[in-house]
Order: sequence, then structure tokens, then C-alpha cells
Amino acid sequence: MAKKARSRPQAVLFARQSPEQAWATRRSVCVFCGSNEGDDPQFVRAAEGLGAALAREGLGLVYGGGSFGLMGVIARATIKAGGHVVEIIPASLCSREKPPADLHELVITTSMHARKQTMFDRSSAFVALPGGVGTLDETVEQMTWMSIGHHRKPIIFLNVAGYWDPILTMFDRMQARNFLGWDVEIGVVRRAAEVIPAIEKYWDEESRYLVTTAPAMSEMIEDAIDEWDPTLFASINSA
Ligand code: AMP
Repeated sequence: MAKKARSRPQAVLFARQSPEQAWATRRSVCVFCGSNEGDDPQFVRAAEGLGAALAREGLGLVYGGGSFGLMGVIARATIKAGGHVVEIIPASLCSREKPPADLHELVITTSMHARKQTMFDRSSAFVALPGGVGTLDETVEQMTWMSIGHHRKPIIFLNVAGYWDPILTMFDRMQARNFLGWDVEIGVVRRAAEVIPAIEKYWDEESRYLVTTAPAMSEMIEDAIDEWDPTLFASINSA
């Protein structure tokens, strides 16, 4: 009697996926950080520690590209530890930047704005390592988008050696003077090892928040659609 073919265990099918396919289903963290290394070796160590932690926890790195400064440090550290790195860079910077060796994916966008949108779309959390105006701009933009309800992704400041203290004081001042909406939440940690636990805690709390508020939110959206008056929009447009 012919031997009955044994069905393959599912694990074999999964193992056949290319590493790229496996990473495509995982979450990624977008890290904003200096295109310079700064003046304190603790900054470099924090970038190395965070890159290794992302790889260890199976979270991808999305970053602004290149091999310079802390950006290059974190990309190389993530790759070295076996993690997955996606570089998102505008065409205008391509000629000035050299991607790190063994990069997994290079996304070239038409503009800085398109780049920011792509970084947002490809990430489930944001982290600010020490950096300059570019880092500040990108991180504060995510806070702005959160303040207008555009997203609920965690935003964590890695406050290495108190680097971000002055801007954190300014955020407190904005809150105390009623200029910062209650729904802008940021996390602040001092060590690279604390970043992923802070992100995961936020993800857990957020999924509970969505489960309890989603029905109410969808009712609100339905009400808004019912109350929507297209003639008003037409008259504003033609004014
Ligand atoms: P900065 O903090 O001013 O050094 O700017 C770094 C941040 O801005 C990074 O997170 C990048 O996304 C972006 N950025 C600034 N300069 C560059 C550059 N030369 N190449 C790629 N990204 C850059």
C-alpha cells in the first residue's frame, strides 16, 4: 500500500519565508537623532545600545539615512546585531550620503516632506536620541500630529545625560500655560535599555484604550458624517 504523504508542519512553511518577508510583518521604530555624534561618548553608547536592543527584540529600525553621526552609529549597531534597517532619504540628499553596508531597504522620496510621511507610515513608535534642529523638528512634528489626533504612536525622548532637559522644561511650561493639549503624551527615559519597555507599555495601554473607545469613536464619526453639509463646503469654496 502506498505510503500516505505526511502534511508538512506549518513551521516549515514559515521557515521558507525570506528574512525580508519575516521582517515585513514586524513593527518598526523610527529613530530621530543627530547627523553628528555630539560631544559626549554617552550619546554614541546610547545609539549603539538602542540599535542592539531593537535587533534583540525583533523590532525594525526606520531612520533618516546615511552613515554620519548618531544616525550612522545606530544603523550600523542594528545591522551588526542582526536587526533590520530601513533608510528613508530624499533624493536631494542622496548624493551627499552613503548608506551603511548591508542596509536592508533604501527608500528614496521626492522631498523632505514625503520622507517624513514615509517615516511615519513605516513606523509604530518614535524615539528621539540627542541631536540638533533636524532631530527636534522631526520629533516635535510627531507631537504636533498627536495633538491634532492624527496618531497615537508612542514618542519617547532618550534623555541621555539630561541632554533634552531644557526642551522638556519648555514642554512643561507649555502644559502649565495651557498651550499643550492634554492628549500630547511623551515618554522620557534616560537609558537605552528603558526605551523598548516604555514603547511596549504604551502599546499595551493604547490597545486597551482603543478597545474601550473605538465603539464610541465610530459613533462620533457616523454622527459627523450625518451632520456634514456639503452645500456649506461648496459655498466656502466658491466664495
Ligand atoms: P540634526 O539633528 O540637525 O543633525 O538632524 C538629524 C535629523 O534630521 C535626522 O533624524 C535626519 O532625519 C535629518 N537629517 C539632517 N541632516 C541629514 C543628513 N545630512 N542626511 C540625512 N538626514 C538628515
